Parts: sequence; structure tokens; C-alpha cells
Amino acid sequence: MTSCKLCGGPAAYFIEHSRIMLCQACFIKYYEKKVYNTIMKHGMLRGARKVAVAVSGGKDSMALLKVVSKLISEKFPEVELIAIHINLGIEGYSGECQEIVEKVCGKLGVDYIIHDLSSMEGYRISDLRSTPLRKRICGACGTVKRYMMNRLAYELGADRVATGHNLDDVVELLFEFYLKGSIENLVRVRPISRSDNPKLITKIKPLIELTEKENLYYALARGIPILDASCPLVEGSRMLRRKKLIGLIEHEISGFKHTLYKSHVKRILPRLEKVVAEPMLVECEVCGMPSLSSVCSYCRLISRLARSAESSS
Ligand SMILES: [Zn+2]
Ligand SMILES: [Zn+2]
Repeated sequence: MTSCKLCGGPAAYFIEHSRIMLCQACFIKYYEKKVYNTIMKHGMLRGARKVAVAVSGGKDSMALLKVVSKLISEKFPEVELIAIHINLGIEGYSGECQEIVEKVCGKLGVDYIIHDLSSMEGYRISDLRSTPLRKRICGACGTVKRYMMNRLAYELGADRVATGHNLDDVVELLFEFYLKGSIENLVRVRPISRSDNPKLITKIKPLIELTEKENLYYALARGIPILDASCPLVEGSRMLRRKKLIGLIEHEISGFKHTLYKSHVKRILPRLEKVVAEPMLVECEVCGMPSLSSVCSYCRLISRLARSAESSS
């Protein structure tokens, strides 16, 4: 039997990029230390009063909720914590996501709110399937989630929104943006997006240096229930195909994902931040939230949804 590199006990997990085996207890310590270091390195909780954690029910956000609630209670007891879940209204999927979130928040003793799009906003993500937006439904769903999470955190008086974006998510974005030379998008791929605008909450990604697999292991090691299904609308997306391709590169070039991320954050991002101007924000004419144009992308999406509902009725 293989033994743990640190304590010699029975190994349970293989850490791919550093090629070591760890037992369950050593893995938990390694994982929590890594998240703590990421938080400290980027000053993610410096001056924070209330952190809103975006939770979907999947492995990343459930691991995030567990590790952040533990670190806050141990190291930042002055910081308040609340979980926010958006029920997207996707049949055969969203109900189960909400159940898991309720179960985990109850188990961890974390306050949470559920924002049900259907009853609170009058539409469901599934409704997008009958509009011209169906071709880029994941992008539209992303717009809804980003907007809602920011607005709900603002309404709840939170000064940080923490999301479960992991190394694989971020490398997939970097791959796409470097390939296309999207400088304006590349400069936004960062561990913390600070904001001075009171209606635009500072975003933090405490799991940005951990892989999908490590988040799964952590949730399992900590006995956190997670959703064992993926969104039925995401099937065959370009995002999934790119992640598969990046997995093949990582297999050939060990440490590829960590190297690309570190080169971006340490060497390229500081230079990009000097040359790319921060976008000018105005208030959306419809909802009053910060926006790049007179009507924000969320309100434009909602009006398109309303127009297709009218034309089909
Ligand atoms: Zn060990
Ligand atoms: Zn708006």
C-alpha cells in the first residue's frame, strides 16, 4: 500500500501537480492551508465585515462554504458569513441543488437565503430555451447569476462575494482569452476584483489555486453532501470541450495549469492593469445598478425574454 508523503499513514489522495500522495488528515490540512494562504496573499478578507458565499450545490461551492466557514470562525471571528443560493428553475436539476444547499447550510450552521427566480423574478432559466438566447444559454445564465449575486449581496449589506471558481475554470478562461487576445477580458481574470462603488461588491475567489479534483476530494473528506449531476443545459458546450483539451495538455506537461495561472497573475496581470483602463460605470436606467451602458446587460436580457414571451403568446 502507498503511504502518505507527510506522515507515513495510509495514502488516500494523489496530488497530481506535485506528484505526492496524502492521507485524508494531511490532505485536509494541506487544502485548508492553501485556501488560507490564497486569502492572505491577496488580502481577500482585509477590512471585510460580511462575506456572501455564492452556493450552487456543486462540489466547488460546497467545498468553499465548508472551508470559508471554518477559516472565518477560527481566524476571522469578527467577519459575518451568509450563503446565497439562486434557484435557476431548471427542471430535474434546480430542485435537487436547493435541497443540497439547505442540507449543507443546516449541517454547518451557516445562515442562508434562497432566491427563487420563478417566484421572485417571474422567469426561469429554462424559459431562455424558447428565445433566440438558447444558442448561448450558459452565457445568459452566467449574466443572470453574476447580476443577482451582486444585487443580493448588496441588499444584504455584504462587502464581499466569494465564488467557488477553481483553477480549472480560470485556466479555461485564460486559454480562451489568450487565444483570442481579449485584453479587456484577461485583465478581469484575477483572484480579487476590488470595487469602490458601494453597489458593486468586491469579488473574491478563494479556491482559485485549487483544482476541481481537489475541491471534490475536500468535500468528500469532510463528508459534505454535493450534487452528483451536472446542469442538463450545459451538455456538449465549448467550455467542457476546452476543459477536456486542457486536461490532455496537463497530462503531457505536468503543472501546466498552475504555471499558466501563476504566469498570468504574477507577470502579466500587473502589466496589463497599467495599460487597460478601468471601465467607466454608470447607473442602469432600468434597475439603478452599476452598468457599462445606459441599460445593463441583465436588464437587456430580461427585456429580450419578455419580448419573446409576448410574441409567442
Ligand atoms: Zn498523512
Ligand atoms: Zn439594469
